[in-house]
Amino acid sequence: MDFSKYQKSTTSVWAGETDPFTSGAVTTPIIKSVAFAYDDLDEWHRVATGKAEGHIYSRNTNPTVQVLEEKIRILEGAEAATSFATGMAAISNTLFAFLAPGKRVVSIKDTYGGASRIFLDFLPRYQVGVTLCDTTDFDALETEIAKGCDLLYLETPTNPTLKVVDIARLAAAARKVGAITVVDNTFATPINQNPLALGADLVLHSATKFLGGHSDAMGGLLCGKKELVDTVFQFREINGASLQADPAYLIARGMKTLELRIERQNASALTIARHLKAHPRVQDVFYPGLESHPGHDIAKAQMSGFGGILSFSLAGDYDQVKTFLPKLQFAHLAASLGSVSTLAGPPRTTSHVELTAGQRSLLGIPESLIRYSVGIEHVNDLIADLDNALASL
Ligand SMILES: *Cc1c(COP(=O)(O)O)cnc(C)c1O
Repeated sequence: MDFSKYQKSTTSVWAGETDPFTSGAVTTPIIKSVAFAYDDLDEWHRVATGKAEGHIYSRNTNPTVQVLEEKIRILEGAEAATSFATGMAAISNTLFAFLAPGKRVVSIKDTYGGASRIFLDFLPRYQVGVTLCDTTDFDALETEIAKGCDLLYLETPTNPTLKVVDIARLAAAARKVGAITVVDNTFATPINQNPLALGADLVLHSATKFLGGHSDAMGGLLCGKKELVDTVFQFREINGASLQADPAYLIARGMKTLELRIERQNASALTIARHLKAHPRVQDVFYPGLESHPGHDIAKAQMSGFGGILSFSLAGDYDQVKTFLPKLQFAHLAASLGSVSTLAGPPRTTSHVELTAGQRSLLGIPESLIRYSVGIEHVNDLIADLDNALASL
């Protein structure tokens, strides 16, 4: 079925689910089978050697998991997609599938904490060159890319200060030197941003966040050009970080409402960002949808919505955060993001807990910063909740 002429809301529901399921089921069956049987040995051989479609063993492919891969493939406008046990598995498998001693990667300083650990701790052990540039210094990034590199790794908007990176400009620079551009699209989701259409070669997701959307399943997804996805898939088959059928089902189920949730979260986050910006007890608000945000123009050009995550700093120090956060009634104080329920936490305790105060300051992360992942609750209730907690300061 050619989904290119349909809207994303339609695709989210139907992609991967157009062939009839067993017994006429109207939702994806959870096929837990480890192996798949063949009476015809010639057919088995054809499937095993990739000459015919089918499944052999669930570490490699699984029918339930394939439904999810098909949804993300179509939503991102990609040739191929594959999946992983977690978002970090998607990131690490992609990096290790393409990098080897003597290769060089260029990236930004504000990548997700786990990706940053790979760049700083793991890749150097394998003699892979790593250069991390200031996230919004595109001139410096272009200069580093032009020196020659094999892989450009980007993430936008970034965690937790929502910096915006110009995907089209940097992907073009990478293409000139024959480097692959990989973009972590977790914060934006394919509803708000499609990096492949902007020139990236591969796009990856922590499906644990907005795609699943209910904080009840972990997974990672990768899509892009078939040849590149195949390279990572072959590494993952052997590395073994495969996604299981149960979480794949939950993520695919969550994705059916992806567009509905993201539309709501985009709208609520913008309303909340504007409200907090005008509040005397709030020092600074970081949200790419605000005209005052330094990345607003690029965000407007490359995103169709500004996303469900914002962060803000309180006037005062970390003690204010300790008073404020527990007063919120409609926010889980927890790591993670992108759920139907609002989640809030200080980067000092969550994403950037392993850094020192000095390192956080270098990244522009104030100690009184709070990351706020807007859920699908009514925006008026969230604003009243925030106002109530702010009044306690
Ligand atoms: C959470 C997250 C990851 C890692 O995903 P896991 O599913 O937790 O392994 C990667 N990138 C971003 C931007 C994230 O928010």
